[in-house]
Amino acid sequence: MERIEGSIAAFLFGGLVAAMPAQATSETEGLQRFRAIYKELVETNTTLSAGDCTLAAQRMAARLKLAGYPHSDLRVFVPEGHPKEGGLLAVLHGSDPQAKAILMLAHVDVVEAKREDWTRDPFTLIEEDGYFYGRGTSDMKAQAAIWVDNLIRYREEGYKPRRSIKLALTCGEETSSALNGAGWLTKNARDAVDAEWALTEGVDGDLDAHGHRIALEILAAEKTSQNFVLEATSPGGHSSRPVPDNAIYHLVRAVDRVSHFEFPVELDDANRAYFTGMSKIVGGQAGAAMVAVVKNPQDVAALAILDKDHNWHAMLRTTCVATMLAAGHATNALPQRATANINCRIFPGDTRDAVQAQLVAVIEDPKVSVTIPEIRGPIATPAPLTPQILEPIEKVAHELWPGVPVIPALEPGASDAQFLNPAGIPTYGITGIFIDPDGGNIHGLNERVRVQSVYEGRTFLYRLVKLYADQ
Ligand SMILES: [Zn+2]
Repeated sequence: MERIEGSIAAFLFGGLVAAMPAQATSETEGLQRFRAIYKELVETNTTLSAGDCTLAAQRMAARLKLAGYPHSDLRVFVPEGHPKEGGLLAVLHGSDPQAKAILMLAHVDVVEAKREDWTRDPFTLIEEDGYFYGRGTSDMKAQAAIWVDNLIRYREEGYKPRRSIKLALTCGEETSSALNGAGWLTKNARDAVDAEWALTEGVDGDLDAHGHRIALEILAAEKTSQNFVLEATSPGGHSSRPVPDNAIYHLVRAVDRVSHFEFPVELDDANRAYFTGMSKIVGGQAGAAMVAVVKNPQDVAALAILDKDHNWHAMLRTTCVATMLAAGHATNALPQRATANINCRIFPGDTRDAVQAQLVAVIEDPKVSVTIPEIRGPIATPAPLTPQILEPIEKVAHELWPGVPVIPALEPGASDAQFLNPAGIPTYGITGIFIDPDGGNIHGLNERVRVQSVYEGRTFLYRLVKLYADQ
């Protein structure tokens, strides 16, 4: 407890809000309250297997109620047949009924975490050596806590925004087979989430290995995840009398061909802006390669340099990779069936049909079928990066971190933006939370995020949402 208070004091007096000594106590209390919200979220298990998003939503609703939000402006929603996959809707009303709202969106579900594999309990918020540890500390309960904290602070101040400020906490972002809360809301509570645009996770600020800030990223576009199933069948028989028509051989050759295939390079506004901005920061050979590829996406020498980085490689094209295999039914029988799952990440604007046709062409074996097992949602469409979006980000970033550039990015992964953008709610990923080069091991073991980064992100998003709401 002492250490906690110490870190808050160090942040306040060493950092951004030290200039207001008269309000030091209330600032400290505010930060402690934020930390309590964050802790409550991290310590509410929201995994699909054993967790309860509805409980997390109820707890956040209770905090907003305590802050004075009337019952009519709060709604815990629970999709039918999914009692533990609920979420929360809340609103701070704006003064201009003609102005469309700003939506603060966060998923509160987290990736599974096994206590026996972790160094510390994944469902206890642990602060150690300047880091918060715990499942969801980074993805994305820090931002969810900031959104709740924002609403509490705005109300406490008597802040009257021009646009309404809406909050949606949802479940089901992390598990592709789960019901997606954001998608559910666009169909079942469209009014409650309707907005000029929405803000959510996606990309963060980048720190170098020494903890120095490199750039603040904003997610401008993301890829769409789509599975394809390769399947080969053969008549089977006794393994003592092999025949060439073997389902496993057909499948393995097909997977091998996929492994050697590279989709063509594509440029859009997002990755063009990313590589243009990053070229100045990275410099050297890689920086020159970024400039060259933006000019000519077929520049083989430049691509060879960029493709060595897995992230840059993925930002430049659709990718497909084998993720699961299943084959055969007995050790002494010829296989009758062999299947592989190929997970593709489709570049914005490409289609599922085109990727499927490309896989069929690459595999070049009529014995291997290529099918789509399930379609989770529409293909991601990028939201336009207008000055209305970018200028407030640049303004607040300049106030907090002068000299650190703001860089649009194309995210190879996917967020809830994939459900909101096609529903007509342009969605941007911006956190203002600076993370280490290892990404804080999100989805992995011992997930962590810097304490200072979370507190700064809180200041950043508090100011940013106000600027948007007053536009
Ligand atoms: Zn996430």
